[in-house]
Amino acid sequence: MADSLTALMDRIDARADELVALTQDLVRIPTVNPPGDGYRACAEFLGDRLGRRGFAVEYVRGAGSPGDSDRYPRTNVIARREGHRPGRCVHFNGHIDVVEAGRGWSADPFSAEVRDGRIYGRGTCDMKGGLAAAIIAVETLVESGLPLPGALEISGTVDEESGGYGGVAYLAERGWFRPGRVDHVIIPEPLNVDRVCIGHRGVWWAELETKGRIAHGSMPFLGESAVRHMGAVLERFEHELLPALAARRTAMPVVPAGARESSCNINSIHGGQPEEHAGLPTPCVADSCRIVIDRRFLIEEPLPGVKQEVRAILERLAQSRSGFRYELRDLFEVLPAMADPDGPVVQATLAAVREVLGREPEIVCSPGTYDQKHIERIGKLKDCIAYGPGILDLAHQPDEFVAIEDLVASAKVMARAAHALLNRGA
Ligand SMILES: [Zn+2]
Repeated sequence: MADSLTALMDRIDARADELVALTQDLVRIPTVNPPGDGYRACAEFLGDRLGRRGFAVEYVRGAGSPGDSDRYPRTNVIARREGHRPGRCVHFNGHIDVVEAGRGWSADPFSAEVRDGRIYGRGTCDMKGGLAAAIIAVETLVESGLPLPGALEISGTVDEESGGYGGVAYLAERGWFRPGRVDHVIIPEPLNVDRVCIGHRGVWWAELETKGRIAHGSMPFLGESAVRHMGAVLERFEHELLPALAARRTAMPVVPAGARESSCNINSIHGGQPEEHAGLPTPCVADSCRIVIDRRFLIEEPLPGVKQEVRAILERLAQSRSGFRYELRDLFEVLPAMADPDGPVVQATLAAVREVLGREPEIVCSPGTYDQKHIERIGKLKDCIAYGPGILDLAHQPDEFVAIEDLVASAKVMARAAHALLNRGA
């Protein structure tokens, strides 16, 4: 006999230890990116598990994508289980890569130790814990005997931390997220158990170089200092650009609230002759100075205007400042993404949070981007959210952890949301 939804929740509670063990197993395969270690092993671990449970498993290598090689293949896995009759497809997507561990850990970052109700380790929060919770949610749903028309899919994809080109972007370009093939997507990124994340701001990275003319440092009047020109740029940024950006507010519910403004970070600055020999700087006028800017823009700001605003500042300097020459090069861009807050996946997940946690969930947007951009922009699939256990602030930090209680709660929410989405209008 088929379970009730209450019985489904009990089944997930009963699998808490298995959920912990699965998270630990995933963390213990260090899939550090760059360079993209252990991708195949991790994808095959997921594929073997889901294959044993009746899922049709496919591996797709992001051949030729950045970083792909025989030593570091960009191996993605997609597992699909058809229901008892045709219907919609609910897809859970988790990235299997993690950022490097870095310094400051109080234990081995890949040991996935359990302490005080938490699992510690690189990727516990971002986002192997979320992926494990999605897997337990889907497996339990399948075993429950509840009617499940349509299809359930789980993918483990690579390279999210480096832009997702060999992962979700590669799959989206090849139709894996085509509407009709997939209808609703939940990405269990660590946005916390009571928040539904519907999108993210945009990104424009650019390199700006000011040009100078080299001369002897004792006679700077014979040259042209690219560093001084860059100083003038930074001064304009400080007094014109940054205040203008800080005055702009998005209607998107970005968290933390400080990220509701438009922003521009100066990621780096390099100028002058390289100091290759310690204590022996070259006495030269700088002929080049470069900065990399990281401009995070709002859904209300069209990208051409974002670029033009910076270029206008530089053009004004070229008019007013003698000898000012520059080059502005695009490095990377991502358009903002946002799901319809009244759409099915948002509404089903909100309802599931209310039922499981008994409190009112919050709709949020992320300050940084994640793979939703590729599903929305390339896949043309709008009904996509991020929802998962863990606290975003802990991602990429030493002593990253996920609370076991949150893992279990999020698995329940995902199971209920998937059940509701599959049976919508049925
Ligand atoms: Zn992540």
